[in-house]
Amino acid sequence: MARDKARRTRKAAAPKVGFVSLGCPKALVDSERILTQLRAEGYLVAPSYEDADLVVVNTCGFIDAAVEESLEAIGEALAANGKVIVTGCLGAKGDIVRQAHPRVLAVTGPHATDEVMQTVHAHLRKPHDPYTDLVPPQGIKLTPRHYAYLKIAEGCNHRCTFCVIPSMRGDLTSRPIGDVIQEAEALVNAGVKELLVISQDTSAYGVDIKYRTGFWHGRPLKTRMTELAAALAGLGRDTPLWVRLHYVYPYPHVDEVIPLMVETRNKGKLLPYLDVPFQHASPRILKAMKRPASSENNLARIRRWRDICPALTIRSTFIVGFPGETEADFEQLLEFLEEAQLDRVGCFAYSPVEGAAANALPGHVPETIKEERKARFMALQETISAARLERKVGGMLTVLVDTVGAKGAIARSAADAPEIDGVVHVAPHASLKAGEFARVKIVSSDAHDLRGAVA
Ligand code: SF4
Repeated sequence: MARDKARRTRKAAAPKVGFVSLGCPKALVDSERILTQLRAEGYLVAPSYEDADLVVVNTCGFIDAAVEESLEAIGEALAANGKVIVTGCLGAKGDIVRQAHPRVLAVTGPHATDEVMQTVHAHLRKPHDPYTDLVPPQGIKLTPRHYAYLKIAEGCNHRCTFCVIPSMRGDLTSRPIGDVIQEAEALVNAGVKELLVISQDTSAYGVDIKYRTGFWHGRPLKTRMTELAAALAGLGRDTPLWVRLHYVYPYPHVDEVIPLMVETRNKGKLLPYLDVPFQHASPRILKAMKRPASSENNLARIRRWRDICPALTIRSTFIVGFPGETEADFEQLLEFLEEAQLDRVGCFAYSPVEGAAANALPGHVPETIKEERKARFMALQETISAARLERKVGGMLTVLVDTVGAKGAIARSAADAPEIDGVVHVAPHASLKAGEFARVKIVSSDAHDLRGAVA
């Protein structure tokens, strides 16, 4: 009896969604999907506009009569209920719906269950679910509360010969842009101050789905890195937010995000930081690795990026001692390093990975030579890094504080990604709080880190 009563109470409290389904059988299937998802999440379906907390109208836009009928249904729902989400074919026909009914909450195209559900979640509280309600809306995170990784895709379309990721995770599969931004929004609402965008190949985001237009809060958005980066930075309208891009391959369209790094329209900022895994600079070795992009193009691109955004920090990783690497190839790599003047660099001595195509390549380099090349590489990079950091001494930087202790704080500037780059050591000060931003004056530097004090 008691259990029945509890179930009845829960049912009575569940939000109700009204549904109008117009159009052809394809639209009907879309309606079924949305209704199934609504019911699976515990929403009830209301029998009338008046009983509903919100109404979804699935429209048809095939012929003029269908457009008329759809617009009329939207008008009726708005008049009787006021909260209306429009989905379906009419939503994909430009601005027709918004021009006729500017008060609708959101407009999506057909096959948009995810986007419709996102808008429902944004306007109606989710029904109580005893299985998931103990989980915070941003999910369980293993990172500190103030930064979080945001995975935008899985898998990879390249076939680099030293890597087995594509055979394990398959080809690139991009997440819907609406889902990604919704997750980011939940993270920001939960107090995250820095979003770290990751995937195997971030610049390829959306290639697998031909940059399909998705929806976020009813707004159409292309599934593309530039649009994603701008929308993520836009989440920092009211609260300071950093967005950092990782694993960006130097394809031509990456040039588009550089101007966004210079702009600051609100409190959200696309950081002037790019993590670009170049891996090598000898054309022969890049070919053997089956890497996209040549080293000359990469140097020209770096120069162009820095002309547009002089504050840009570039991080990269390289492999030395790849099968077939000669002393001449390695010296080409050192020359590239001199020219490119990268800020942050990681270097690995090649080691065979089970199942990788590179294992079968001729000319494996002896371990001692690999280690010797790695040491020479790192020694050169250290001098470059030290000189670049020294230029920051005397200047002011905004930092995000990671931890505070008796000896001061460990913080990071726009140039420092967590775990992989250097840090800014900040002298003790009462105003320093973990997870908060601070303005510091830089007083000294070494090969990896900076030291500063609250200004
Ligand atoms: S190294 Fe990166 S780009 Fe190359 S195949 Fe592996 S995941 Fe893809």
